[in-house]
Amino acid sequence: MAATTRLLILDDDPLTGQTIANIAIMAGVEARYVDEPAAFFQQVKDWQPDFIALDLVMPRMDGVQVMVELARLGCHAEIIISSGVGGRVLDAAARSAAEHGLNIAGVLAKPFSPARLRALLKDEGAADTPSTAMPTVAELTTASDSDISHQDLQTALDRKQITLVYQPKINCRTGLLAGFEALARWHHPDYGPVGPDRFIPLAERYGLIDALTESVMVQGLRWLSQLPLQLDDAAEFDYLRRRLRDITLSINISASSLNNIDLFERMNEYCQSMGIRPERLIFELTESCAMEDPISSLDILTRLRMKGFHLSIDDFGTGYSSMLQLARLPFSEIKIDKSFVMTAAGSKESRTVIKTIIDLGHGLGLYTSAEGIESDEALEYLRSIGCDLAQGYAIARPMPAEAVLDWLREGQLSDESRRLQVLHSLNILDTPPDERFDRITRLAARLFRVPIALFTLVDSNRQWFKSSLGLDVTETARDISFCTHAIEQEDVMVIPDATQNPAFKNNPLVLQDPNIRFYAGCPVHADTGSRLGTLCLIDREPREFSRHDEAILRHAAQMIENELTADFLAHVDPLTNMLNRRGFDSRAQEALSLCHDADLQACLFLLDLVNFKAFNQQHGPAAGDRALIEFSRLLRETFRGSDLIARYGDDDFVILMVDIDPLGPQAALRRLRTIARAIEQPHPFSYNAGWALLESGDDSVQQLVLRASDRMHSEDRH
Ligand code: C2E
Ligand code: CA
Ligand code: CA
Repeated sequence: MAATTRLLILDDDPLTGQTIANIAIMAGVEARYVDEPAAFFQQVKDWQPDFIALDLVMPRMDGVQVMVELARLGCHAEIIISSGVGGRVLDAAARSAAEHGLNIAGVLAKPFSPARLRALLKDEGAADTPSTAMPTVAELTTASDSDISHQDLQTALDRKQITLVYQPKINCRTGLLAGFEALARWHHPDYGPVGPDRFIPLAERYGLIDALTESVMVQGLRWLSQLPLQLDDAAEFDYLRRRLRDITLSINISASSLNNIDLFERMNEYCQSMGIRPERLIFELTESCAMEDPISSLDILTRLRMKGFHLSIDDFGTGYSSMLQLARLPFSEIKIDKSFVMTAAGSKESRTVIKTIIDLGHGLGLYTSAEGIESDEALEYLRSIGCDLAQGYAIARPMPAEAVLDWLREGQLSDESRRLQVLHSLNILDTPPDERFDRITRLAARLFRVPIALFTLVDSNRQWFKSSLGLDVTETARDISFCTHAIEQEDVMVIPDATQNPAFKNNPLVLQDPNIRFYAGCPVHADTGSRLGTLCLIDREPREFSRHDEAILRHAAQMIENELTADFLAHVDPLTNMLNRRGFDSRAQEALSLCHDADLQACLFLLDLVNFKAFNQQHGPAAGDRALIEFSRLLRETFRGSDLIARYGDDDFVILMVDIDPLGPQAALRRLRTIARAIEQPHPFSYNAGWALLESGDDSVQQLVLRASDRMHSEDRH
C-alpha cells in the first residue's frame, strides 16, 4: 500500500479513534484522528485525506450532519462508516450517505477487524458496500459513475430515456389500493439499465436534478390522469375506475429541488391542466433532506402544504433527526425505512424501531407507511401494530405502466370481483323479503330507536336492500351509497351528522329523501370473508354513537352473518315454517349473548298445548296439523317481529323476547289469551304457559327453558 494513503478518523471516543488509527498505521497508512467536527473539517480541507472513517452515532454530535456537510463541500474522500450499532442500521446509513453523493468505501462494524479495515483502505471492500438482500438495479449495471457524463444524462433527459415505474401502496387494514409511488428508471442504450441509486446522485451533482424531477412529475401526472380511462369499459370495472380517481401518487423529491419554487408552481399548473387535485400528490423527502436546513424547509414545505400537496418523510429512521424539528414540519406521512421493515421478522430491534415510529407518527397525527414489505408475515405484522399503509415486493414490485393495468385487473380488482362473485353465488339479490333478516333489522331499529334499519348488499352498481325497515325503495345507486364506504372498512363506520361531513354533505341521500343525517353501518361478511354489504342504521337527526353501541351493532351484524351461513332447511319446522328446536337454540344463544353485552332484558316463554294428542285422535291428523298452523299464526300475531318464535317439540312452542320491560311478560300473555279466545272452536288452544326473565347468571338457553318450565307447572292454565 502506498505510504501516501491518508486516513482521517472522526470519533468522539478517543479509545476507538486511536484503535482505528493504530490498525491503519500498522497497515502502512498515514492516519490522523480528531474528536470534534471543527478540527475535522479543518483537516478535511488542509490535509485532503483519501479516506475518512466516520462514527455515525456520537453522543455529542450528529454523524449524519457531518456527512451532509461533507457532501456540501464536494468531498471526494472514500468514506468508511464505523459504529457500534447494528449492521442493518449501518447499511441504511451508508445508503443515505450514498444518496448524498458521497463515495462510500464500506462499513466497519465493531468489533473492528484489522483485516476488514485493510481491505477497505485497499478499496477491496467496494464489493460489499451496503446492499439490500436483493441486488438493486444499480448493482446489476456495469457502468461505473465515471462512465456516466453530464452529457450522457442530459441526452437521456432530452431523449426521454428516463421513464417511470409505479409501485402500489395499499391500506394495511382493508388491503385496498391507496396509491402508487413513481420511481425513475434509466435504460441507457449502451450501458443498459442504470439504477436510480446511481443516476439520481449524479443528476444532483451535474445540476440536472430539477429537470429530472420535472420530467418525473409530468410523466407521473399524465399517467395518473389517464389511468382510469385505460381500463376496459366493462361494468365490472366501474367501481375500480371510480376508485382510481381518488388514489394518490408519490413522487420523490431531492433536497436540492426543494428550493426551486418555480418547479412547484409549474407542478400546480400541471395538476390543474390535467384535472388532478393537488391533494392526490405526495412528495417524498428524505428525512435528512428536510432536516438539512430546517428553517427554510419549514417555509417551503408549508407553502407546498398550503397548495394542497401532501408531504411524506421518506426513509424515516435512518437520519437521526430531532423529533422536535419533525413535529414542527408540516408532514402528512411518515415512511418507515425498508431496512427496518425487511428485517422485522428476525430482529427485535427492528420491530421496536417500527413500533416506535408508528406510535410517534400517530402521536403527531401523521399517516404511517412501511416500505420494503417482502412477505405476507411482514404485512400481517404491520397491520397488527396499526401501520396505515404498506408497500413492498410482497404486494407488488415497481411496474411499468402496462403492467400496472394488468395488476389492477387481476389482483386488486379481483378482490372486488371475488366479492361480487361470492355475493352473486349466494343467489340472494332480488329475492323476496325474508323473515330471518327482517327480524334482525327490526331488532336493530328497536334497540337503537332509529326510524330506518337496513341490511344492504353492495352490488356492482347499486346497493340492494335485502331487508329494509323504514324505507320504501329497494335499491339506490352505488356511487351515492354510504354502505359502499362502510364495506371498505373492517369495522363499524359512523357518520354522526352527514351535513357536517365533507364527503357526504352534498350526497343526494342527505339533501333529499330520505334525508340522512346519522348513519352507522357494520360490514356483513360472507363466510369467505368478503364484505357483502352492511347492517346499517339511519336517522334523520344527528346522533352520537358510543363504543358500546358499536359493539351491539356488530353483534347484530353477526346475527345476519350467521343467518347467511346457517343451513336453514335444517333449522325450520316444515309444517309451521317456524324455527325448530335446533334453529331456535342457536339463534337464542346468540340473542342472549347480545342481551348480556348490551345489558338488555329478555324473556323466554314456553307454551304447551293441553290435550293436543286427544284432539288429534278425535279430529284426525289433518285437523291437528291445521290447528298447529293456526296456533303458530296466533303466536306471530301476538309477539313482535323482532322476537324469536319456534316450535320446540310436537306441541310445545317457545318464544324469546329481547328488550322487554319487567311487566312485559304478563302483558304479552294477556294479549295471547285475548286473541286465542276470539278464535272459533273447535281448537285445542288450551295451553300451559310459563316464562322466565333473563338473569345475570344465565348462560345457556336451556337454563331459561328450565326455569320457564318450572314456572309453567305452577301457573294457571289458560
Ligand atoms: P426510495 O424512495 O426509498 O424508493 C423505494 C425503493 O425501494 C425503490 O428502489 C424500490 O424499488 C425499492 N423497494 C420497494 N419495495 C421493496 C421491497 O420489498 N424490498 C426491497 N429490497 N426494495 C424494495 P429504486 O426504485 O431502486 O429506487 C431507489 C431510490 O432512488 C429511491 O428510494 C429514491 O430515493 C431514488 N429515486 C427513485 N426515483 C426517483 C426520482 O424520480 N427522483 C428522486 N429524487 N429520487 C428517486
Ligand atoms: Ca420514496
Ligand atoms: Ca424510501
